[in-house]
Amino acid sequence: MRYGILGDVHSNLSALRTVLEAFEREGVQRILSVGDVVGYGAAPRECIALLRELDVAVVRGNHDTAVVGEIDLLYFNQVARQAVVWTQSVLSDEECAWLASLPYTLDTDHCTVSHGTLHRPELFDYIQSTTDGDPSLDVMELPVCFVGHTHVPLTLLRMHDDPLRTAYTTATEIDLTESRHALVNVGSVGQPRDEDPRAAYAIYDSDLERVWIRRVSYDIEAEANRIRKAGLPGMLADRLALGV
Ligand code: ZN
Repeated sequence: MRYGILGDVHSNLSALRTVLEAFEREGVQRILSVGDVVGYGAAPRECIALLRELDVAVVRGNHDTAVVGEIDLLYFNQVARQAVVWTQSVLSDEECAWLASLPYTLDTDHCTVSHGTLHRPELFDYIQSTTDGDPSLDVMELPVCFVGHTHVPLTLLRMHDDPLRTAYTTATEIDLTESRHALVNVGSVGQPRDEDPRAAYAIYDSDLERVWIRRVSYDIEAEANRIRKAGLPGMLADRLALGV
C-alpha cells in the first residue's frame, strides 16, 4: 500500500490542494492525517470538506479539539486563541460534530497515527527530542507511527541491532527495514516552522518499507491574503512566507 500522510493543515487551502495534487502524482492509494485540520488559517470549512470528500483518515489535533470546546483556551497563545474563536464562528454544527468525532489515534494494517505523542495522545505533548519520544516508542506495536504537532519533520528510530537506544535523523528517505520502530514527524502542510515555507508531507510505501519526507511550493500569497481578508491577526499571514 502506498500511503500519503499529511497534517497540521491549519485551514490552509492552497497548501492542502497542492499536497493532494502531489499525492495524485505519487500514486498514493490511501491518505492519512495527523490532525490539526483547523486553526490559524482562513479556510477551515473548505479544508474539512476536501478531507471528507477524499475519505482521509484523520486523528484530532489540539486545535481541532479546542474548536469543539474540549480544551481550555488558556492553553493557547493570543493569536492561536483568536483563530480558534474565529473558526468556531464560521463552522457549522455539523462540521464541529465531524471534528468532535475524530479519534486520538488510529491504526491501519501497516502504521499508527497520532497528533502529539502515542502514549498519552490526549495531552498533546510535543516530541522534540529522543527523550520526549521514548514513551511513545515504548508503546508502539506497528513498525511505524506518524505524528505532527511541532510542524518540524523529524524521525526517531530504534534499530534492530541496538533496540534500547533511540536515534534521530532528519533524513528525507527512511529505510524501515533497519529499524524495529520508527516515529516519523511528517511536518506541516499549512504552517511549517523549520524556516522552509514549503508544505511538508510524507509518502509511506509499506511494500518497499520506505518513508519519504517531501516538500512542495504552493501559492503562499493567495493564502496570506485570505487570512488578511478574514480579519485574522496579520502575523498569521506574514509567518507563512517565513516558514516559522
Ligand atoms: Zn499544529
